[in-house]
Amino acid sequence: MTRIILVPIDISDTELTQRVISHVEAEARIDDAEVHFLTVIPSLPYYASLGMAYTAEMPPMDEFKADSEKRLKEVVKQFAIPEDRVHFHIAEGSPKDNILGLAKSLPADLVIIASHRPDITTYLLGSNAAAVVRHAECSVLVVR
Ligand code: ADP
Repeated sequence: MTRIILVPIDISDTELTQRVISHVEAEARIDDAEVHFLTVIPSLPYYASLGMAYTAEMPPMDEFKADSEKRLKEVVKQFAIPEDRVHFHIAEGSPKDNILGLAKSLPADLVIIASHRPDITTYLLGSNAAAVVRHAECSVLVVR
């Protein structure tokens, strides 16, 4: 059976991504694994962070999704993994729920995740990373 690795990517945080690259590449080489990249558009906080009112200013979700997919593909170019073994997923809502949901439905053998944003030093494990470690049914590699 094909080994499946799930890599959730926060496209707003390039530093987090840098830290997981070498680990993902190394794991991907084992048994020629398939690597699934997922980015989640967190609905409300994301709009709020752009300073938008919840009105006509909001671009349609389709546009957000298309833009996020483009940015995710750009980020993934940094990973040296054969193209035919790379898959992309865009979801909307809670990052942790979507990460856990996809891990289960694939089903993933391994999730590779960064522990938290580097600038947030008070937490050893971010809220999404913590939920994935706690609730995933497969192995989780937490990169610090
Ligand atoms: P922090 O709260 O410090 O940002 P998180 O737990 O949210 O910590 O982030 C840790 C990891 O969770 C990230 O490296 C990424 O793998 C995953 N993650 C966080 N947000 C998203 C998102 N919107 N889409 C996909 N993965 C995410």
